[in-house]
Amino acid sequence: MSPVLSEFERAIGRGLFRVPECTECGAAVWPPSEFCSACLGGVRLGLGYGGGGVSGDGDKRLQGRIVECSMEMPAGRPAAGSVRSSFFCLVAFECGIRLIARLAAPVPPAPGDVVVLSSCGMSPDGAGYVFEVSTPDAPEDPANPANM
Ligand SMILES: [Zn+2]
Repeated sequence: MSPVLSEFERAIGRGLFRVPECTECGAAVWPPSEFCSACLGGVRLGLGYGGGGVSGDGDKRLQGRIVECSMEMPAGRPAAGSVRSSFFCLVAFECGIRLIARLAAPVPPAPGDVVVLSSCGMSPDGAGYVFEVSTPDAPEDPANPANM
């Protein structure tokens, strides 16, 4: 495993999404790799984005737009009157990376809708990454009162 990848996975394991960037042309490099896919320059990890609650620089929000989405199953057992489903969305983030992320929302998002990265991590089996996004005007996670 390359140093960039292991560093990336350490960060994402803590809920921090550090965007791999080319040291030559500045392009975001996805998936994380030792070399830029555009110019073969070196890659370093940029500042981290997180959903807050992570010590350090995890307070920044990474914003993106829905490209397309498909419905998954309802998320858990919905409380009365608040049926929220989760959707798998292809999201184009402002840093130039496109990811499949999960969005829990009462209605399907439309292409072009703005979302923010709300959490990220390794999948339970360690075989990949999981990303969740939320709509910026949705109520914040009540377990995370840090956004004052
Ligand atoms: Zn490059």
